[in-house]
Amino acid sequence: MKRIAVGLFSLFLSAQSFSNIITEFNSVKQHPEKLRIFLADMPKGGDLHNHLDGAIYAEEYISFADSSMCLNPATMAIYVSEDCPVNLQLSELPKGDQALYSDLIDTWSMRDFIPGRHSGHDHAFSTFQKFAPVYNANVGDALAAVLNRAGKQHLQYLELRLPLDNAALIALGDNITWDNNLAKMQEQVVAKGVQAVVDKIPADIDTAMAQANQLMRCDSVRPTAGCGVSVRYIYPVLRAMKPVNVFSQLVGAFILADIDPRVVGIDMVMPEDSFYVLRDYKLQMEMVAYLRTQYPNVNVTLHAGELSQGSVVPYGLDTHINQAVSIAGAQRIGHGVDIAYEDDAEALLEKMAKRHVAVEINLSSNEKILGVSGDDHPFALYLDSGVPMAISTDDEGVLRTDMSNELFRAVTTYDLSYAQLKQLIRNSLTYSFLAGDSLWENAETATPISVCAESSEACNAFLKGSDKARLQWALEERFTEFELKH
Ligand SMILES: [Zn+2]
Repeated sequence: MKRIAVGLFSLFLSAQSFSNIITEFNSVKQHPEKLRIFLADMPKGGDLHNHLDGAIYAEEYISFADSSMCLNPATMAIYVSEDCPVNLQLSELPKGDQALYSDLIDTWSMRDFIPGRHSGHDHAFSTFQKFAPVYNANVGDALAAVLNRAGKQHLQYLELRLPLDNAALIALGDNITWDNNLAKMQEQVVAKGVQAVVDKIPADIDTAMAQANQLMRCDSVRPTAGCGVSVRYIYPVLRAMKPVNVFSQLVGAFILADIDPRVVGIDMVMPEDSFYVLRDYKLQMEMVAYLRTQYPNVNVTLHAGELSQGSVVPYGLDTHINQAVSIAGAQRIGHGVDIAYEDDAEALLEKMAKRHVAVEINLSSNEKILGVSGDDHPFALYLDSGVPMAISTDDEGVLRTDMSNELFRAVTTYDLSYAQLKQLIRNSLTYSFLAGDSLWENAETATPISVCAESSEACNAFLKGSDKARLQWALEERFTEFELKH
């Protein structure tokens, strides 16, 4: 079958070709290494839950460092100094002390981690502070690394949590007084100059993108794989802090997402079992709800239910996902691991399915940070309940994973069929915050909107007007190509 032109919908392969791919998939599923080869080549759509700072491998961070980046060997944290001792320069480590280099990789990631005095949760979250100075000085390098990794794995799209200038937004909160009236709080944050802080961020994104494009040689005749990957950003609000500082960041995040089309939404990050998050969770959801009334076009995804039984008191498990959906109005949920412990979980699952609230599923993260995997994970529960899911990586650098490995885990742990796998991959674009209407009239059955089922010109016009549908269309073309090859 030849490459199908736009307008003659490319979904429909001949029945023979389609049965070939299913037969092959069912066969390679019996052989893990063959399955890895199959998945490596498969089109993968998007990654909707990827923290840029956590997506960098320790080895990559070390390679980004210059001679001002010093390692404190006692804490394995980085500091920046003019007088960095040569033997502790991060950039010199690989050439010198192999044992220290190896220890550093273990400390900055989950490699070889054995729970002891520290849990996987504490170890994983502790890494971010340690490499933060290298990230902050090398956002462009980080972007290029993550985009290239995505392109090489046949991903088309990333929605990156991009931490930028959080400190300046947090500082605004230090100079205001808490007021239960959120409109008055907003006035205070505005009076302290939030707009001026936010106005600088688009230029920071420009700088990082320009640097990444240069590193990936996107304007050359030999661009690297990352140049073909579309990227959008989600602003991550740090929430394990006082309400004034959470609110000042949220105001900044909503303004940014409102003015810069590359920033397609906001999220709230940091351990959900920390003191302020547990104490103020409902208040934080009310803050988001209030700001959504002020900035109705801003998309919201929230880490919710990234908790396991025993990690908090039992009543700490019973409301977070529901409040994120019902109070904050989140369109997507990150993790959603403790759903079975929520009050009236069945009604909540029904509500999420009905509203198409998608769950960003992070299998390696949940196993390594929460100790939840296999049958203890709610993957099958979401599947049975008709709640849409998209597989994502969370922190591929810290967790030592990537999208191919996450899909491998999903297929092997939950014995997925080819159709289920394809649906998960489609979901990663359908439930993205890309601008424009979806290609699907019905996402569950992959039924296209009528203009794209019937007329090529009308479909072309539609695709031109929708970033989301264009990538969805391209994914279908990639699927066709992939399936015809097998
Ligand atoms: Zn996350």
